[in-house]
Amino acid sequence: AGMLVVGVRVAPLGSLHVLVLVEDRTQAKRLEEVRRDFVANVSHELKTPVGAIALLAETMDQAAEDPATVRRFAQRMTRESQRLSALVQEIVQLSRLQDADARHQPVPVDVDEAVLEAVDRTRLVADGRGVRITTQLSAEGADPARRQGPPAQVWGDRELVVTAVRNLVDNGVHYSDPGTRVAVVVSVVGERVEVVVRDQGIGIPEAEADRVFERFYRLDPARSRATGGTGLGLSIVKHVAANHGGDVGLWSRPGEGSTFTLRLPLRRAADDVAAPAAEPR
Ligand code: ADP
Repeated sequence: AGMLVVGVRVAPLGSLHVLVLVEDRTQAKRLEEVRRDFVANVSHELKTPVGAIALLAETMDQAAEDPATVRRFAQRMTRESQRLSALVQEIVQLSRLQDADARHQPVPVDVDEAVLEAVDRTRLVADGRGVRITTQLSAEGADPARRQGPPAQVWGDRELVVTAVRNLVDNGVHYSDPGTRVAVVVSVVGERVEVVVRDQGIGIPEAEADRVFERFYRLDPARSRATGGTGLGLSIVKHVAANHGGDVGLWSRPGEGSTFTLRLPLRRAADDVAAPAAEPR
């Protein structure tokens, strides 16, 4: 609203000002729409597991005489509450990431190590699904020349980097068939650290490649839900990348697999002087 008042006052000074302010207004309106959509989506997404739990509890109450039914319903209730809890956790995470004021003090993050932890956290699910995860870290690069290079470190938040990689590996595992492989490769390419996550799964049609990074967007809502997906994983990855001054790319061919590439600016020794974390508080 402040923008608009200023806009009216500077308008006579020249058309350029007007143009810029109109742009601002459109931007503000768009942001407001995005926020409203997000709130609507969140309440819709939360209602699904909450409704399921309520229904299961009610039915279970009526079937109290039959232990087998009670057990089955209790298991479904556990699954629904896990989904609910994952959803709440990711919503909180995403809204923190969107809040520009909530940035942490950056620290040096060893990407090899973050990737190992992300893979570790996914291993159990991968084993359960019969999908093999392989890693090639920057410190053990196929190209011997690379091993002489700078350590694959970035400035940022370690937990967020782990979360982003974990979301990518998790997806690779979930959208693939048993017997396939998810390969994770870390390397230093120029001024950036690249984490490539390649699966041999169902793939993503080119026309949907941008949309999968939107909040709650899923190609197949039933499949996503069945695997405990929230539809927020990739938008979290996108925000983590942006907050670190990097980006995330996608290459895919349906039926052949998908390759996600997370690129983050490499930490160089020269950065340390200027970096906020290195300054005395
Ligand atoms: P979800 O929790 O549904 O996995 P994401 O934001 O992580 O949410 O992904 C959004 C959608 O993109 C998924 O529902 C799925 O349709 C598609 N997708 C993500 N990763 C992959 C992948 N590796 N292979 C195929 N489809 C994928």
